[in-house]
Amino acid sequence: GGFESLGLSPNIFRAIKRKGYRVPTPIQRKAMPLVLSGADVVAMARTGSGKTAAFLIPMLERLKQHLPQSGVRALILSPTRDLALQTLKFAKELGKFTDLRSSLLVGGDSMESQFEELAQSPDIIIATPGRLMHHLSEVDDMSLRTVEYVVFDEADSLFGMGFAEQLHKILGELSETRQTLLFSATLPSALAEFAKAGLRDPQVVRL
Ligand code: AMP
Repeated sequence: GGFESLGLSPNIFRAIKRKGYRVPTPIQRKAMPLVLSGADVVAMARTGSGKTAAFLIPMLERLKQHLPQSGVRALILSPTRDLALQTLKFAKELGKFTDLRSSLLVGGDSMESQFEELAQSPDIIIATPGRLMHHLSEVDDMSLRTVEYVVFDEADSLFGMGFAEQLHKILGELSETRQTLLFSATLPSALAEFAKAGLRDPQVVRL
């Protein structure tokens, strides 16, 4: 089960090698084939396990396989600005040889500069929930209906930080046919309920 056995596009495989990843980590080995097959996945994984690449690599691959669409195609929700920044960096590195574009929507940056980014039609948005909701309320023609792929990263922190209501609202903005992933170190009951509401027959991956 190395990266070469996943049947990835050469441009994505090349970026993985360039990043210096030789063998998948255990969470990557378990989660990536499921995500590539189109399943919704709950993955129990901590920071340091390689979880970010575990959702970014199959996300990039699936976006490449499907026909280009207008509108936002992938949405990654992070609990903090720092995690979102780190995820953006990885998305840019792993997507280096694709034409997929990523944008960041986090608190602390100006709304104006983010309006400009959105006007350039990014394929992938990496956001904190509060700032994403702010954009959705300010911009009339901003829609999440085109999103094919959603990741709730560090979902236990998202919930612990009081984003539950916003997350449920975000679920309501998404298309029914999306693929949904939830990554979390723990699965408290509020989160398990959220997963029930937001994911379809999820495969559960544990280390
Ligand atoms: P994460 O758990 O996503 O925060 O990743 C922790 C660290 O592991 C990051 O520095 C990644 O670049 C690195 N990493 C992720 N996947 C691999 C891999 N397959 N081989 C080596 N390092 C990796």
